[in-house]
Amino acid sequence: MPLIREIINVLETAAPLRLQENYDNSGLTCGDSCRECTGAIVSLDLTPDVIKEAIADGINLIITHHPPIFKGLRQVVSGNAVSEMMIACIKNDISVYACHTNLDNVLPGVNREIAARLDLEQTRVLQPLSGTHRQLITYIPIDFFEKVRDTLFAAGAGAVGNYDECGFAITGEGTFRPLQGSDPFSGTLMVRQNEPEKRLEIIYPAHLENKLIQTLKGAHPYEEVAYSLYPMENKFSNLGAGIIGELAKPTTVQHFFEKVKAIFRTGVIKYSNTEKKEIQRVAICGGSGKSLTTSALRNNADLFLTADLGYHDFFSGEGQMIIADMGHFESEQFTSDLIARLITEKIPTFAVRKAASKTNPVNYFL
Ligand SMILES: [Zn+2]
Repeated sequence: MPLIREIINVLETAAPLRLQENYDNSGLTCGDSCRECTGAIVSLDLTPDVIKEAIADGINLIITHHPPIFKGLRQVVSGNAVSEMMIACIKNDISVYACHTNLDNVLPGVNREIAARLDLEQTRVLQPLSGTHRQLITYIPIDFFEKVRDTLFAAGAGAVGNYDECGFAITGEGTFRPLQGSDPFSGTLMVRQNEPEKRLEIIYPAHLENKLIQTLKGAHPYEEVAYSLYPMENKFSNLGAGIIGELAKPTTVQHFFEKVKAIFRTGVIKYSNTEKKEIQRVAICGGSGKSLTTSALRNNADLFLTADLGYHDFFSGEGQMIIADMGHFESEQFTSDLIARLITEKIPTFAVRKAASKTNPVNYFL
């Protein structure tokens, strides 16, 4: 039986917590991750019915997309719906883990689940994040260069998009003077040593920083390892919010909406006025995506499909782009499949399943 934290590690390898938006509250909401995991239920939301399912089946981990504690909770007392759910989970030894905007902000995440079902091709992130990567520069004696670089690669440094083992090196000469009490790699105490070295430049995902520094110090032969860490503002096409891609051929708006309704079983699609009869480039953001409207326009999307739009938001396509609301739950419903799949791919024998109860709080009266 895996520990709860082993299940969490699988999710955070695919969707590092550091990628969550600053308003978010992804991660372990309650519980003890050091316990053995008796099974997991995946649900878009935490509801009393989902908790009942977990209790009935003896399952001690509920994984949600939406964090149940989102805007802060000042007391855990009965009489408040979120508090009562937390009390029920804690009383029954159920841990709750939320995987929210960190799963939105990876390309194989929430939005690719939607795009794949609508047969979008050439998909890329709609609004890339910056600050996700940093650069490490270090100096390695020539004979140890390959070993140290390969160890850093193996620990996750040097991966960019569809490439890994990316780095740059140049040969030079380092100097140091070992003082009393030191145990130098080479040279004599109190005499300046000139040492042939290679300077290695390598980028890495910021969330791996602590691990990489430990790895570097473990593999490097010097007592005092010289290294520098630099922030980077680069944006990478596989990290960020929303997704944009192309339909294989121009399609009528009606045909596209029929497909959305059929696949996502959405009760109604609300959409803006347009002269456009056919579309090909489609931008998508599952859940509340109106903040990405400008990015969709700038990327010349014919249609932007998202949810939670208000009256005024339907003007924001500026006559050039159709903006459509497919429903929040409907757009993100396949996120549960994605989370369950991520776990099953890594731990095939683990019992993970989607919640059986309906968690969409919205009904449509037609
Ligand atoms: Zn959502």
